[in-house]
Amino acid sequence: MTAPIIRRKDDLQALTRAWRRAGDVIGVVPTMGALHQGHLSLVRAAKAGADRVIVTIFVNPKQFNDPKDLENYPRTEEDDARKLAPFAVDAIYVPDPDQIYPDGFVTTVSLGGVASVLEGAARPGHFDGVATVVTKLFTQTMADRAWFGEKDYQQLQVVTRLSADLDLGTEVVGCPTIREEDGLALSSRNLLLSDRARIKAPALNAAMERARGRIEAGEEVAQVLDEASLEVERAGFNAVEYLVLRAAGTLAPMDRLTGPARLLAAAQLAGVRLIDTIAVTPPD
Ligand code: AMP
Repeated sequence: MTAPIIRRKDDLQALTRAWRRAGDVIGVVPTMGALHQGHLSLVRAAKAGADRVIVTIFVNPKQFNDPKDLENYPRTEEDDARKLAPFAVDAIYVPDPDQIYPDGFVTTVSLGGVASVLEGAARPGHFDGVATVVTKLFTQTMADRAWFGEKDYQQLQVVTRLSADLDLGTEVVGCPTIREEDGLALSSRNLLLSDRARIKAPALNAAMERARGRIEAGEEVAQVLDEASLEVERAGFNAVEYLVLRAAGTLAPMDRLTGPARLLAAAQLAGVRLIDTIAVTPPD
């Protein structure tokens, strides 16, 4: 059965208040729609970890620093509702824009630290937009727990920090990245890749996996990263914005593999910006 689509926060809160009174654990999976198996893996985890599950679908204008990216972002609400049907979630919250940003809205939630590097530096205002909408979605849904993907590893750290810093009362749970068979991380933006670009796209993850192996084997980090970037560009990407090794969690720079780490990358392929990340583990 398809879950009810709710568009107004008062209607949502009528439900969540009743669930709270009944002592149910409320879970939320925030998305921007164009749902794929990555999103659905979060829904599956949420169903196992909460009594009531709300999936939110909101293409948040405040987190897009590029107006063209916002305009081109895929919107597939009917399909999304169909894909959610087998999961029997309790509500699909697709807020009308004024339910998130009413007339006169002037508040921005802004983080320093982990939000200021990589995606934060490459996309000015992006994490302010994410933090602002996530704060609103957590408070509107009154969620006890929220599920986010490691695909957006930095976002996962930002949201974890945000919830702790502002006592939002929502526990943030991270889930592994779901990939195509050829290694490409599932992403709503993959829909925007041409057939030719789609063939080249797995080169990003392939180069990162090779770099991971070399770094874990003790090779010099800076050289491995330079070569990985070159490899991605030679495979047909237009530009690698960054391909770096950072400390897991804090994303502090790392010259040598001295603890649990992540490789993180952003690269442009035929007008589409792809990001990816994988864990790098030092030998015991
Ligand atoms: P988005 O709709 O792109 O804002 O993503 C909504 C949520 O789904 C975020 O927590 C993402 O990290 C997560 N997500 C997106 N792609 C994947 C994936 N391939 N595997 C796991 N989670 C993902």
